[in-house]
Amino acid sequence: MPDAPRVQIAGLTRRFGGRAVVDDVSLSIAPGQVTCLLGPSGCGKSTTLRMIAGVDRPDAGEIRLDGRLVCDAARSVPPEDRGVGLMFQDFALFPHMSVADNVAFGLSGSRAEKRARAQALLGRVSLDRHIDAYPHELSGGEQQRVALARAIAPRPRVMLMDEPFSGLDDRLRDEIRDQTLEVLKEEGTAVLLVTHEPQEAMRMADEIALMREGRIVQTGAPYNIYNNPVDREAAGFFSDIN
Ligand code: ADP
Ligand code: MG
Repeated sequence: MPDAPRVQIAGLTRRFGGRAVVDDVSLSIAPGQVTCLLGPSGCGKSTTLRMIAGVDRPDAGEIRLDGRLVCDAARSVPPEDRGVGLMFQDFALFPHMSVADNVAFGLSGSRAEKRARAQALLGRVSLDRHIDAYPHELSGGEQQRVALARAIAPRPRVMLMDEPFSGLDDRLRDEIRDQTLEVLKEEGTAVLLVTHEPQEAMRMADEIALMREGRIVQTGAPYNIYNNPVDREAAGFFSDIN
């Protein structure tokens, strides 16, 4: 089933202190598709992503990755066995390791093979000449590109990204967004990108899932959502884009 969804979640619910901060969320992501989970701060985006990553456990619902049930009421596959890559805003590199070793961390194979893979990936993000540098010798944007190379090195079939571009200045942000998309599309990775910025979702998403107070209130292609918002609040959320 080549086009079976890479990510399929159904009825996902998480309660804190009796309040459902993620409330019956369902979505699916095909190979090579970027889905943006978009909504204001505090609406439950990161909690959703953390459950898919396996670092938090839902109170109800199930999660399938590549057709495999990784989480339901009875079981929870540990994060390292889920085949997902992770990128966060403050996804720190290992400061005592060179760029090459950071990217190769978690790969298997001989030292030469790992270095070759790191070299190739760093080439994709235009950083191959920094392969022997240390993180503190790089700019913030360069460090974030190394983090991207590290996240994709094990060829995850699913990439989970939580506001990974927020710390970057405007010009750099666009460049790194585009580069990230290009690399992930080439690899056919299914991407869940969490963001509170409508512009970012419009730029990057194949599909937007609009979230509010724990629920997905609308799902669709970016311009469909932009042109046909489900209600006034959704319209207002998009109104500062032009
Ligand atoms: P977002 O990523 O959309 O900004 P979060 O998923 O981080 O939102 O948080 C959703 C809501 O759940 C917030 O009100 C937050 O305070 C609450 N929350 C998140 N994690 C916990 C926790 N471990 N304990 C209690 N409340 C939490
Ligand atoms: Mg968050």
